[in-house]
Amino acid sequence: MMKTLIVIALAALAIAPARPQGRSRVVVLGTGTPNADPDRFGPAVAVVVDDASYLVDFGVGVVRRAAAAERAGIAALDATRLTHAFATHLHSDHTLGFADLILTPWVLERPQPLEVYGPRGLKSMAAHLVAAYADDIRIRSTGGEPRHQYDARRVNVHEIAPGLVFRDARVTVTAFAVKHGDWSQAFGYRFEAPDRTIVISGDASADSGIDAQCQRCDVLVHEVYSEAGFARRPPEWQAYHARYHTSSRQLGAIAARARPRLLVLYHQLIWSSTEEELLKEVRSAYDGEVVSAHDLDVY
Ligand SMILES: [Zn+2]
Ligand SMILES: [Zn+2]
Repeated sequence: MMKTLIVIALAALAIAPARPQGRSRVVVLGTGTPNADPDRFGPAVAVVVDDASYLVDFGVGVVRRAAAAERAGIAALDATRLTHAFATHLHSDHTLGFADLILTPWVLERPQPLEVYGPRGLKSMAAHLVAAYADDIRIRSTGGEPRHQYDARRVNVHEIAPGLVFRDARVTVTAFAVKHGDWSQAFGYRFEAPDRTIVISGDASADSGIDAQCQRCDVLVHEVYSEAGFARRPPEWQAYHARYHTSSRQLGAIAARARPRLLVLYHQLIWSSTEEELLKEVRSAYDGEVVSAHDLDVY
């Protein structure tokens, strides 16, 4: 009996590492992909330091997922505190929540402008979204709702190049170029918080050099696809996935070189396989700590 309990306790430890005690949190708001999985909202990861939050990507449902995290006790993810976001690339699954991120906190009276960093094309996307919602913005501003005067400066878009892109008293954020098929610009991000270094891959193929960005970082959040699921995909899709994404075994090899304290899988393309199988595949090439994230997991 005691032996069984110990095994269960150890298994629980392996699945759910203790939440960090320091100043930073990695809150995986959405672990999804373009697939309409009802359990996995669009890709979005929040790096939280003290009472500030920094989003990486804004997939579908981002503000409501942030609100769920706020309700679970992470005050920095209150809608009105979503003021900094970093886009990895402009694929729709990573940006479908952009209108949500611009407009919902505005309606809820976010006191500061939204500062968004990302690749070329992000300014145009923001301008088109604001234009698309022109009637909503006009009616909310002038149609009787109190205090919704819209100001275009409420969204400041910074189109960036690889290198240092942001620094404040809590974090230093470095963007690095990753390979993602035909995208001319796709970024991963490295966050240096007071207590930990966190690297987030965005969408990237295995030859993106992310191991060099981590190098014993504390948390590596990395996209992945299942090799077993991949083997059953049609050849034309296999060619696509191999060029745009990273397989489980490739990720194991990346992690073996990078040696993060914790490897977090997100944006999991599992297809006909299972999450258990996916983890087994990664572990076949990597003996460090690895978890497969679900929406709202905190590391
Ligand atoms: Zn994606
Ligand atoms: Zn993508």
